[in-house]
Amino acid sequence: MHGQFQFIGTGGSTGVPAIGCNCDVCTSTLPQNKRLRSSGLLKAAGKTLLIDVGPDFREQALKYKIDHLDGVLITHPHFDHVGGLDDLRVYYFIQKHALPCLLSQESMDDLKLRYHYMMRPLEHGKSISAQIDFQILESDFGHQEFQGVPIQYMSYFQTTTKVTGFRVGSFAYVSDIREYTDELVRSLSGIKVLVLSALRHVPTLMHFSLEEAIAFARRVGAETTYLTHIAHDLEYNTTNALLPPDVRMSYDGMEIYF
Ligand SMILES: [Zn+2]
Ligand SMILES: [Zn+2]
Repeated sequence: MHGQFQFIGTGGSTGVPAIGCNCDVCTSTLPQNKRLRSSGLLKAAGKTLLIDVGPDFREQALKYKIDHLDGVLITHPHFDHVGGLDDLRVYYFIQKHALPCLLSQESMDDLKLRYHYMMRPLEHGKSISAQIDFQILESDFGHQEFQGVPIQYMSYFQTTTKVTGFRVGSFAYVSDIREYTDELVRSLSGIKVLVLSALRHVPTLMHFSLEEAIAFARRVGAETTYLTHIAHDLEYNTTNALLPPDVRMSYDGMEIYF
């Protein structure tokens, strides 16, 4: 299975520049230092799937001309990953059918609270106002065909929040990872292109540091790893120069192939 992935956002939860910050990265004019909230477009088997729909989604959709979506994959229900859910309504206006959205039961339970007005009434899993066809993953690890794309999914944790990673062929998207099991490592075996979150130089309660991300990439044996979900602590060029050749910084708009 070959495909393409485009980063449409590579920032941490605040985005870069961060509100009120005058640091060197936030004031940098280098395009690679401007990071909308993390998200990406996965293209495989002739389908276009959006991974996460954060609060910058409208801006991203306009910037990258996302005029069609076949489905949405949700990693977890934190604001920086689902804050743009309401904006998916436009695809119902354009495409005239509810947009399929794949997520864990835990993410769904959280979305029902966060977007209670959007979910009522839920008819056969379809939200009426946003017209999203929510499809719940059956377990923590498994395979599921979604919109004709064979998807392997996997679970890990960010403190108490369960997060879902997605794999298509030799490509995997693993964001907001903090605690994980050996099963996750096994489910990523044979991976060639890994998108992995790393927030800053130092580890935090919620995120890998650069060093931890490199160690994880080596442990799963990824050929090339692209870091995303990056805070304003990490300047693009200087961080890339520090990283080993098989681990690269991503940037908004970057396209990779698998
Ligand atoms: Zn996040
Ligand atoms: Zn800053």
